[in-house]
Amino acid sequence: MCYTVIKKDTFWGVLVKKCDYCGSEISYFDQYCNDECQLHANKYYELVERFGKLFSVINMICVFGIPIGLFIFSFSREVGLVLSVGSCAVLGIMLLLLPFPTESMIKKYKIQNAVKRTRIFGIMLLGLGLLIAIFAVIFVK
Ligand SMILES: [Zn+2]
Repeated sequence: MCYTVIKKDTFWGVLVKKCDYCGSEISYFDQYCNDECQLHANKYYELVERFGKLFSVINMICVFGIPIGLFIFSFSREVGLVLSVGSCAVLGIMLLLLPFPTESMIKKYKIQNAVKRTRIFGIMLLGLGLLIAIFAVIFVK
């Protein structure tokens, strides 16, 4: 599999390239700014290779589970609540443990920043799950 994304920008008419991991400007012939960035990037790609499939399956189930849970909520509160809050929680925790951004995010933000954004999204999902649970406890009796 080839994950290498070569992004070229022009700065004062001179071609510059950004490190695939941290996004710092680097010379046109390099891919990473140093060995450390390359090591981090390799670790990330290994993780994707090992858990990528598991990630997509859980991701798909939870992305459908949240709206379906909210829909079921209107006629079966317990089932709907467990499904929607459970999906938020599982997806949120997974995004913290396996923060795999989309390819377009990696292209745009580079690995380090895209991973950070994905983790923040995971925390937001956990917050959303908590909000749904609080809402259900307070307003629906
Ligand atoms: Zn770098």
